[in-house]
Amino acid sequence: MSASPSYESICLPIKFMNALSRSQDLNETLNLISYWLPKIIESDRASVCLGNRPDETLEVYALFGNNAIKAKTILPIHGTMVGRVYQNKTLEIQNNLRKSEDLDCKKLHQGGLNSCMDAPLQKLGNCFGTLNIGSLSDSAYQPEDAVMLECIANWLANYLHSQMEISVQKKRAETDPLTETSNRRCLTTVGNEMFSRWKIKHQPFSMIMIDIDNFKRINDCYGHNAGDQVLINFSSVVRQVIRKSDHFFRMGGEEFVILVEGNDKSISKYAERIRQAVEDMSVQYEQSKIKITISCGVTSVHREDDKLECVYCRADQALYQSKQNGRNLTTVI
Ligand code: GH3
Ligand code: MG
Ligand code: MG
Repeated sequence: MSASPSYESICLPIKFMNALSRSQDLNETLNLISYWLPKIIESDRASVCLGNRPDETLEVYALFGNNAIKAKTILPIHGTMVGRVYQNKTLEIQNNLRKSEDLDCKKLHQGGLNSCMDAPLQKLGNCFGTLNIGSLSDSAYQPEDAVMLECIANWLANYLHSQMEISVQKKRAETDPLTETSNRRCLTTVGNEMFSRWKIKHQPFSMIMIDIDNFKRINDCYGHNAGDQVLINFSSVVRQVIRKSDHFFRMGGEEFVILVEGNDKSISKYAERIRQAVEDMSVQYEQSKIKITISCGVTSVHREDDKLECVYCRADQALYQSKQNGRNLTTVI
């Protein structure tokens, strides 16, 4: 860069600070950071990477400008500059990307960039991500820029860390700990949102209510732990069958609900696919192979429904009919 600003006088756009202090949402904060960063330290690209702890990778969460490495890309820790910065908790500059052997640097260079700089995002000595900037120019970043990026990273780390904590807590409050499906509280929230969209924008939705058949017998025959394992495996099979846009909830016990957005004319076939997939699965528990079946009750939102409860009651009636008619069945009302 021709005229690097002195780190003694970091200028932060008031619009950035204002938007940042109002942002309630982690994604919005990440996007704000990647949008404003190139305006604070002259760059052609900015991104924020966050660490995925269990599999030791980094994910590009927000990106602005040149997309040589796209958003949502998963980067390994080993063999990347960003991974080294994350692990060593030390800022790095690469002012000659064509010479680098690092995977991310090579990708950036292929995308037209010639310099980059990554700073660690740390809280209480733990690194949880990185701030990344890149430039089309050679030798774009000087030591003054490094001090500036480091200061900004340390300052932003506080915002990001507290928002990440909040989103973890929020997720926990909405998730059933055994099956990791959304819980009943979440069903109320998501269901009421869908119902409002139906009333205001006429966007329809359907509900599939599921109850595992004779589940008490599983507990009685194999023990409570086996029952828990069945619930875990059942949830995992359902997650494999349903679409990403569907919402899957554990109501309590062995009762589950799926909310399907849109006008799905083949909703009964869809529920049947889920029922069949569960019938086909078997759960290996110690020396036993446990088989289960489910009963389904299916309905779609009707014009005369005046609250979510109406949809819920109809799905419950349909489920009751499946039970009455011998179980391992799907009924649509
Ligand atoms: P039906 O086909 O009529 O639904 O019979 P069912 O035996 O499935 O229904 P019932 O309501 O009689 O029994 C449900 C059982 O589910 C009773 C309860 O102990 C068990 N259960 C509820 N939650 C859990 C759980 O988290 N883990 C285990 N292992 N069992 C659970
Ligand atoms: Mg049951
Ligand atoms: Mg039940």
